[in-house]
Amino acid sequence: MNIHEYQAKELLKSYDVLVPSGGVAFNAVQAGRIAEEIGGSAWVVKAQIHAGGRGKAGGVKVVGSVDEVKKAADAMIGNRLITHQTGPEGSLVQRVWIEQASDIKKEFYLGFLIDRGTQRITVVASGEGGVEIEEVARESPEKIIKEVIDPAIGLRDFQCRKVATAIGLKGKLMPQAVKLMKAIYRCMRDKDALQAEINPLAIVASGDEKLIVLDAKFSFDDNALYRQKIITEMRDLAEEDPKEVEASGHGLNYIALDGNIGCIVNGAGLAMASLDAITLHGGRPANFLDVGGGASPEKVTNACRIVLEDPNVKCILVNIFAGINRCDWIAKGLIQACNSLHIKVPLIVRLAGTNVDEGRKILAESDLSFLTAENLDAAAAKAVEIAGKNQL
Ligand code: GDP
Ligand code: MN
Repeated sequence: MNIHEYQAKELLKSYDVLVPSGGVAFNAVQAGRIAEEIGGSAWVVKAQIHAGGRGKAGGVKVVGSVDEVKKAADAMIGNRLITHQTGPEGSLVQRVWIEQASDIKKEFYLGFLIDRGTQRITVVASGEGGVEIEEVARESPEKIIKEVIDPAIGLRDFQCRKVATAIGLKGKLMPQAVKLMKAIYRCMRDKDALQAEINPLAIVASGDEKLIVLDAKFSFDDNALYRQKIITEMRDLAEEDPKEVEASGHGLNYIALDGNIGCIVNGAGLAMASLDAITLHGGRPANFLDVGGGASPEKVTNACRIVLEDPNVKCILVNIFAGINRCDWIAKGLIQACNSLHIKVPLIVRLAGTNVDEGRKILAESDLSFLTAENLDAAAAKAVEIAGKNQL
């Protein structure tokens, strides 16, 4: 799960990390009032969407009067912002963050990512901040500094100093850098974050030189949200695919894809194998849907409904290897779904595992016409054939 920039900044502030003073606004009047309240002579108006690249796309405006703050907010709120991360349809801006503009001396990149190779949180930093880090990684990988954190001993001061030195921080900024990195790491661990990205981290001069976070992006482990009340409350459902939101509300894992074969499967591994089998036979899956263990008839009905909300779906492949699940529950669920949803597309069903004979019998004795298959390969081949035919 992701949160907005302003939420990330508020979170970091609670860890004593320096961020600009600011406030969130849902309309221009509110934006103007926030600018007056925080004071100063220049402000930054920033569109709050869960995608980056806003700077280049007009989603970050530095302005010099309260009137201009209102105008910038008005131009952003209610409109779609298209950045290189949103796709061509863009994202609807529903809130803006207003903050005091900073006098930037230099920008840095600072990220905390989980490195799959070492399976450890790794600090990634660069003196080339403010720009796309992917570009730096491609063109001058030597400018990216990495420091792996041992989970048993945590992030040590010497590691922070090593990173800070490598990106060119020294003098009075050094203790600030150490404090900042340790705070972000602590925040990440406390809140079960998967990733924290500060781009840019900046040196600003207001009297003394200071390190300040100008943009922050956090993502969190969905499986840990049950114990992260504060983070869960930050969730903005408007930023997520409505079908995925509905699915997660029913305890289902749904991910939209762009093909025409709907998939209802139990277990992520079997789901991946099903997508592979469909692709192998020349078809394209419309989604990835894992009903998980203990799929009650209600859950199966919800799964069918969500899959059918996608107008591209030409048939549904149901592939169940029941362990904790039971094939008879799945069969009953499918019959219930067909009756209540008036499903018009063919269903190809492959059942295996617990109570398989009972499950098959229930399907065979129903007056509905399910297509059945003995194994995944046959089921996938059948689904691809039907989806191809239905398309013509
Ligand atoms: P992103 O493009 O979505 O990553 O948005 P950012 O928040 O990173 O903003 C893009 C750029 O706007 C930054 O790299 C800065 O150069 C600039 N910017 C952001 N905040 C300020 C600020 O307070 N003052 C000034 N002068 N520039 C800012
Ligand atoms: Mn940024």
